Amino acid sequence: MTRKRQTSAPNTSITIKMTYPDTLYASMCALTPATGPLTATIKADICVIGAGLAGLTTALEAQRRGLEVVVLEAERVGWGASGRNAGIVSAGFSLGASQLLDAVGEQDAWTLHGLSATGAQYVRRQIERLKIPKTFHGEGFYRVSRRDCADEMQTDVERCGRKLGYELNYCERQQIQEILRTERYHQGIFDPNAFHIEPLSYALGLAKAFAALGGVILEQTKAKAIEKRENTWRVVTPEGAVDAGNVVLCTSAYDLSVYRPVTKAILPVATYVVAAKPASALLDTAIQTEAAVADTRLAGDYFRRLPGGRLVWGGRISTSRTAPFRIGERMLDDCYNIFMQLGDLKASHSWYGLMGYARHKMPLIGEVEPRLWYATAFGGHGLNTTAMAGHLIAGAISEGDDRYKLFESFKLKRAGGPFRRAITQGAYWAMQARDKISEIT
Ligand SMILES: Cc1cc2nc3c(=O)[nH]c(=O)nc-3n(C[C@H](O)[C@H](O)[C@H](O)COP(=O)(O)OP(=O)(O)OC[C@H]3O[C@@H](n4cnc5c(N)ncnc54)[C@H](O)[C@@H]3O)c2cc1C
Repeated sequence: MTRKRQTSAPNTSITIKMTYPDTLYASMCALTPATGPLTATIKADICVIGAGLAGLTTALEAQRRGLEVVVLEAERVGWGASGRNAGIVSAGFSLGASQLLDAVGEQDAWTLHGLSATGAQYVRRQIERLKIPKTFHGEGFYRVSRRDCADEMQTDVERCGRKLGYELNYCERQQIQEILRTERYHQGIFDPNAFHIEPLSYALGLAKAFAALGGVILEQTKAKAIEKRENTWRVVTPEGAVDAGNVVLCTSAYDLSVYRPVTKAILPVATYVVAAKPASALLDTAIQTEAAVADTRLAGDYFRRLPGGRLVWGGRISTSRTAPFRIGERMLDDCYNIFMQLGDLKASHSWYGLMGYARHKMPLIGEVEPRLWYATAFGGHGLNTTAMAGHLIAGAISEGDDRYKLFESFKLKRAGGPFRRAITQGAYWAMQARDKISEIT
């Protein structure tokens, strides 16, 4: 049964008018004035469209390899999902490990999973190498179950080690309840290599490193169209254009019109986050781990404690492009439904973000026409996979690295056309129903 907290006042956070959404992360970062817009026709070796983590990693890695890169961003660096997410960095994809094995077989699944793990390590290394301050938040990640499924979890751990070469630790119910003081969780799987970060600060750190190498980022510059020229591509913007040898499309779910052969394959899915005001002592009564946590339901909760005593709690999905009324309170109700001790938590910020999903739940990475690339649809597992994709695309363009072809079997399938919102919403309701049934049975 769903429990409701006693609430007094609505979320009283003051909405600061700024170009970033009013997230906890934006309130903690030193934000600089926007660059752009582009008002001329300029040339580059590569034009990257979208300054989320996919675009930024591609741009930084290509610039590091000596190419001249221009990034166009409709809003601000990290304005999309990349600067609003829950910050949990772990190996794997939105498509689960078992489904990946079923989809591509053991050999390719081993390689793909290995690449995804390298993406997670890349994030850790960049934070250290670039000395991005106040970004690393904690080690480890628990996936916990809301139903009794010891055998299933042990099999998953064993299969992941044996078939994907990735070691995870199985945790009995008692271990889980020692760190998460609730009856709602049963067993868990711990990933000791995972960690969690402040994602906007990470995105801004990559952008700064890219600019320091001579890379150009033009914010407030929306790409309107991509036109083929004789030996180049022209990216047209409202007041200018970029002529580039290569174009990389990294626009995810925020604009589905810029290049239909790719964007037709993307389902935008919203998910929601609340950040609570600092309450260390209260959190100690419920959550005794610095590791991030998510439950294993198909559209489950995810949360983590931040240094300084805040809780960031996320969950739910929908097809709406706006946050529902009093979403912060609703998310705290979800938290209270698990941890009754946390009824007095107060929201400081709440927000939503859009994830781009492909129907097969794997990233879309490849070359749609000669020298026109795409790296998108990372779903809810983008922190490691955007890093992986950026590396692969930069390597493909500069050195002919063809490992991106491993993603060829995950095609640009049309994601439902005019019915895509209804399909996504229907799928979510079906998932919720399945989750509820599995908790009862
Ligand atoms: C609330 C939330 C929680 C999440 N939690 C996690 C997590 O804990 N761990 C994890 O691994 N993943 C998580 N994710 C998923 C992850 O954030 C995304 O998969 C990842 O950030 C996608 O990066 P991206 O660069 O592809 O897209 P985005 O970050 O969305 O960037 C796309 C950018 O392109 C720009 N753009 C769009 N169209 C144009 C255009 N025409 N011209 C110029 N610019 C354009 C947009 O303004 C945007 O800045 C979460 C996502 C959300 C929303």
